[in-house]
Amino acid sequence: MGHRALIIGAGGVASVVIAKCCQNSEVFGEIMIASRTKSKCDAIKERLQPNTKTVISTAAVDADNVPELVKLIKSYNPEIVINVALPYQDLHIMDACLECKVDYLDTANYEPEDTAKFEYSWQWAYRDRFKEAGITAVLGCGFDPGVTGVFSAYAQKHEFDEINYIDILDCNGGDHGYPFATNFNPEINIREVSAKGSYIEDGKWVETEPMEIKRVYNFKGVGEKDMYLLHHEELESLALNIKGIKRIRFFMTFGQSYLTHLKCLEDVGMTSIKPIMFEGKEIVPLQFLKAVLPDPASLGPRTKGKTNIGCIFQGKKDGKPKNYYLYNICDHQECYKEVGSQAISYTTGVPAMIGAAMVLTGKWKKPGVFNVEEFDPDPFMENLNKWGLPWEEDFDPVLVP
Ligand code: NDP
Repeated sequence: MGHRALIIGAGGVASVVIAKCCQNSEVFGEIMIASRTKSKCDAIKERLQPNTKTVISTAAVDADNVPELVKLIKSYNPEIVINVALPYQDLHIMDACLECKVDYLDTANYEPEDTAKFEYSWQWAYRDRFKEAGITAVLGCGFDPGVTGVFSAYAQKHEFDEINYIDILDCNGGDHGYPFATNFNPEINIREVSAKGSYIEDGKWVETEPMEIKRVYNFKGVGEKDMYLLHHEELESLALNIKGIKRIRFFMTFGQSYLTHLKCLEDVGMTSIKPIMFEGKEIVPLQFLKAVLPDPASLGPRTKGKTNIGCIFQGKKDGKPKNYYLYNICDHQECYKEVGSQAISYTTGVPAMIGAAMVLTGKWKKPGVFNVEEFDPDPFMENLNKWGLPWEEDFDPVLVP
């Protein structure tokens, strides 16, 4: 008999998580899809139920309403709640899990709606309460954060005595044919890329202007791309959890057209998260922009090309310097053929399903709140190969200056 999971959200990432749970019926015997708009949950169920042994049910829930969530969790009685709604819901869903004593997993750290501030402090504050309740919370189990943390734990366990430098490189070589669109939730995406950049050096954050630091890198499977240093949430946890870290940075590729459009939208105030009055109604410019941009889910059939996401590690093994690159290449069109989504949702949804399976099968089960690099990476790494995100290694990578 498989396990029972509640999945919250029915967007791009959720639909991959659900498709993958349905492929893994041995672990996911029963799942419930619950989101704000129930018709989206029903549509996913209709598409997948005929071809899976996993028994799917659906429900409407406002995940910001803790009593409503608690009622749903108590009536369905899942062993884990997989949160693939938006980062704003993280704390409410964690509160409900605590009350019901159910394990929790998400793919992005909490951020308050009124300030674009990405840090783990709010969720780490739940450590003692989760420990006392005897339940597990796995934070940030998508690709980045997520697989990047698993890669780091794997490198630390098998390849290094000490890791001194990590560069996380996130390359999307996909082309959707639109002059401007975002590959996942536009609001979350634009908040992330218009924020100041930062990296950690000698235990301290160093802040940069947005997109101030640019490098060019030749990615296997994609080719040469411009990439920019961004702040990213896993820097905070990896700097604490990986031994000997001196510097850790995160780079993401962006095309010139994306940047030119973003700059223009910023200049005219369309990316602001400060509410304004419009025709007697308060609106948030960024939320209005989201409403006029293409829905990321609609990019699936149009996006061609590959992603290449991974980590370059520099450190020491047996007293000698060592460099090591672990990465995954994923093809947008192949993802679309398999689950009806492009690679950005795929590379996030597959690790979320694997992480939940790790908890349900007891491999990643310990009371408290944890980032992925605090668990044994080996069973997760095996599952990446099995479930569609095979990893590759390079023992002589080109380094990022
Ligand atoms: P979408 O916008 O496509 O989907 C979000 C879903 O959450 C929608 O179904 C939405 O419902 C639902 N939702 C929003 N608010 C509520 C609420 N209050 N109660 C119930 N449901 C709600 O987003 P994505 O699928 O692109 O992203 C999902 C998550 O994945 C985000 O947190 C994102 O940051 C994260 N992510 C992580 C990555 C990683 O590598 N770690 C990479 C990419 C994304 P409705 O349909 O009614 O609006």
